[in-house]
Amino acid sequence: MRVISCGITDVGLKRGHNEDNYLINEELNLFVVADGMGGHAGGEYASAICVNTVEEVVTSLELNGQVEDSDDPVEVAREKLRYAIQLAGRRIHEKANQMPEYNSMGTTVVVILLDAGNAVIAHVGDSRVYMLRDGKAEQLTDDHSLVYQKVKEGLITAEQAKTHRMRNVITRSLGYLEDVEVDVQVRAVRRGDRFLLCSDGLCGHLELEEIGELMARLGPQDAARRMVDLACERGGEDNITAVIAAVEDV
Ligand code: CA
Repeated sequence: MRVISCGITDVGLKRGHNEDNYLINEELNLFVVADGMGGHAGGEYASAICVNTVEEVVTSLELNGQVEDSDDPVEVAREKLRYAIQLAGRRIHEKANQMPEYNSMGTTVVVILLDAGNAVIAHVGDSRVYMLRDGKAEQLTDDHSLVYQKVKEGLITAEQAKTHRMRNVITRSLGYLEDVEVDVQVRAVRRGDRFLLCSDGLCGHLELEEIGELMARLGPQDAARRMVDLACERGGEDNITAVIAAVEDV
């Protein structure tokens, strides 16, 4: 597969430091965004452990027997991401327990691995993946957040969710518990597909249609830059991260 990609992270206008981390590994076609949380330096430490662990596991061919029963490459990729994210969660949880200053740290994560005509997508938390195909954008991930759940259940509207007092409550993250459930999905990829991975500091300020329009009109670098700038112009109260992967050929 031939993929063009780029990533931008920005501290935003209100925060003293950037707790988001991202990773682009062009050799593996591996893309990760993690949005850390927790006092002091905890958030950036948690998101760094996360992206590094995911890369380490996906890079290593040895999987500690986690997927030895399967010779289906898609199944292997699914399990690889699941295992990588769970290991990241255990490492963060362990560090948080060992060091009082990292006590409450955690992170969200979204991962895409493009391989053999497929996009394997894994996530925990409220960072998101969007896909652009045929000029239309679609959100591929369901936020693990309280307000997202309430919108799905029809208890509040998407408009109300934006200003809800509990809009920052995440129902699943890495680090809080030793084990975490990871959502993994597989999409067949077509030439021309574009993927956006982002933290909530970005998607909290941009509508789906806008994301689609920018990804369709601009190249990955310009689209990511424009999205981050727009999120800043509209408040920029959180850290903002965008990673775009454009499939040039399958
Ligand atoms: Ca955030």
